[in-house]
Parts: sequence; C-alpha cells; structure tokens
Amino acid sequence: MFIRLAALADGTNTVHETSAPEEIGLDAEIFHSPVELTGEVHRSENGFDFRLHVATEGDFVCDRCAVGFRRTVESDIRLLAVRRTGHAPREREAEGLVTIGMHDAEINLDQEILDALILGLPMKILCREDCRGLCPRCGADLNEGPCGCENTTLGYGGDETPEKL
Ligand SMILES: [Zn+2]
Ligand SMILES: [Zn+2]
Repeated sequence: MFIRLAALADGTNTVHETSAPEEIGLDAEIFHSPVELTGEVHRSENGFDFRLHVATEGDFVCDRCAVGFRRTVESDIRLLAVRRTGHAPREREAEGLVTIGMHDAEINLDQEILDALILGLPMKILCREDCRGLCPRCGADLNEGPCGCENTTLGYGGDETPEKL
C-alpha cells in the first residue's frame, strides 16, 4: 500500500487507504476482506511520522476444535521515515525507522503492514478463549456438550490445567 508523500501537507494529515489483501502479500486463502489503513502522518522538517492502525478480517481454523471462523486481525504501526540526500533506495535503519530518497514521492508500507498483521495474530488460533476442543477418544466437539466418554474434562490435552481430574 502506497502513501503519497508529495501530497502530504506540513503538520498532521489523515490517512485512510484500503487495499486487497493479495496486493500486499497476505495469504489469499485466509484473508478475503479489504485491508484498511487509518491514522495520521505528521510531516515535519525531520521527515514523516506515521501513526497508523491496520485492520482486516481472516478466515481461520481453530487449533483445538478445527471449526472455521472469521475474526478481525488488527495492529498499530509506528514508523518514522527520514529523507536522506541522493537517490539511495529506501532502507530499514532500525525498528520503526526507515530512510527514503530525497525525492521519493511515495512510500510503500506493505512490509510494515504485513509485519504488524502477523504480530497481531495470537500464537494459538482459537475460535474462542475457552474453546473445549475435541474429545481425544471419539473426536466429538466438546463445545457442543459432553460426548459420553470418561475423562472428557481432559479434553483437547492442551496447555491448560483441567479444573478437575
Ligand atoms: Zn475451537
Ligand atoms: Zn468422546
């Protein structure tokens, strides 16, 4: 997703851009909704200070119960882009800091957007916090109630201590 730097006024500018997920390199199998970038860019003598929020929706499969569900994925992006002399290409200097060419008229934020959305994903993808998962014996979805096997409170055999044994 490109931000037109040449079009930004000194001071605070409002940003609202949308893009198709595959255009910025997101997995089209998971992401079907437009990616929305909102927030502000402060333009000063020092450069461009981006304070953005990115959000989209993904279709995921629960790690515990294998049910498909849709959820919002969102994250903040904070980036400072500083111009340097000459025609040097854009370069990442440090976390949240890039240098751009003296005359660059736009900046591509695809990599920042991808990084932010991936950071916004939890380690475990769950349809809900307290998903009970599948019975390890009969495979029944324990969210729909006990399956009749013994010890189904052990459920998914996951990473949490069952309430009772
Ligand atoms: Zn689940
Ligand atoms: Zn069972």
